[in-house]
Amino acid sequence: MANPHANAVAQLERVAKLLAKDYQDNKASFERAIKKLKEPDVVHQTKLSIKMDDGTTKKFQAFRSQHNNARGPYKGGIRYHSDVSLEEVKALSTWMTWKCAVTGIPYGGGKGGIIVDPKKLSKAELQRLSRAYTDFLSDKIGPWIDVPAPDVNTTGEIMAWMVDQYQKNLTKKGLVQENPLGTFTGKPLGLGGSQGRDEATGLGGVMVLDKLAEKLGYKNKKKVRIAIQGFGNVGYWFAKHAHDHGYTVVAVSGSRGGVYVANGLNPEKTLACKEKNGDLTSCFCTDKACAVGNGKKISNDEVLELDVDILVPAALENVIHKGNAAKVRAKAIIEMANGPITPEADEILAKNGVILVPDVLANSGGVTVSYFEWVQNLQGYYWTHQEVISKLKPLMETSFAEMWAMKEKHQVDGRMATYLTAVKRVVDAMILRGI
Ligand code: GLU
Repeated sequence: MANPHANAVAQLERVAKLLAKDYQDNKASFERAIKKLKEPDVVHQTKLSIKMDDGTTKKFQAFRSQHNNARGPYKGGIRYHSDVSLEEVKALSTWMTWKCAVTGIPYGGGKGGIIVDPKKLSKAELQRLSRAYTDFLSDKIGPWIDVPAPDVNTTGEIMAWMVDQYQKNLTKKGLVQENPLGTFTGKPLGLGGSQGRDEATGLGGVMVLDKLAEKLGYKNKKKVRIAIQGFGNVGYWFAKHAHDHGYTVVAVSGSRGGVYVANGLNPEKTLACKEKNGDLTSCFCTDKACAVGNGKKISNDEVLELDVDILVPAALENVIHKGNAAKVRAKAIIEMANGPITPEADEILAKNGVILVPDVLANSGGVTVSYFEWVQNLQGYYWTHQEVISKLKPLMETSFAEMWAMKEKHQVDGRMATYLTAVKRVVDAMILRGI
């Protein structure tokens, strides 16, 4: 399995080569900045001891990588997954630095993770684990230091436990005036969350899809066929908004497989069916009804090779690699997961003319609404759903337009085009600080 941090460094090196000519008068600072950006500022790690319901104690390896804070506090989610590793959180925190720079929101990049399969824990165990992780991090985070959020397998409910534990720790230290709500985003609406945060990543991706469809000359949205790998928060909301905007979603899949419905599936009905059955693979749901005759079962890998217009990897990293990249038949890929394509696969796809909208742009709607949540928490004044969405749209559209302009100007792929803007913003902030 490819090392995600090595991928992140390889991507940075490619961009640095192209950017170097902009810094001929400041070569030494530029080189120092790039060198520093190859590793996180700091990675905190520990083993958390948790009392299990049966009275035994189990240990869980936990991380928080703080990559760069030149543009603002470290920002990024916390992932609970059995594949979490040091190299993965390092890569994910690096990508957060670029993501926040692309959208221009005033944050750096961070990411946390615990090696755990949360499905194997009871709710009480999950809560104890989340509180223990918060104890470990309490003096390393804060509204102006590092602002965690949900990521794979973490939810608003988990953020609420973390806020509560963080506030207890502040109180113990006599720091009662600090703002615990502004230290975490992705919180439930009843505890300082923002309207629209749940759907923001998926919806932001569909705002980008609309702009991409214009560029590709797709006039009739119904004829645009989309396949989505992943049906968690991001995949579901992307599917739902794409369907509501008039596109035809023909396939969705989860880790245990998925469904292909040639005439287009209904994401809401599919989700309701999945929740009822505990599994997606028997949910062939059109707008009319769920029925076996509507479609066929496909594997999580097959979904990547379908003959569609737009492919949306919305699950985990490294799913498109040198072994399957040539089999991708989609005309364009919108990366809703973080790091789903390896650098070798990037080259194959570019050679085959597949248009790419990279993760740090396509899925930045989530962290952007996290930023709106933080602003609302700091000012203690809350916005309507419509206000949130109307502030998100121009940011997503501007980022896309900037990417497209760079792509045409430098004749590079979408990832390079996006990274050129992002890395430049971060390097400039580091140089302004006098690196
Ligand atoms: N985990 C999300 C991401 O990868 C959101 C991060 C955040 O809101 O801070 O973009």
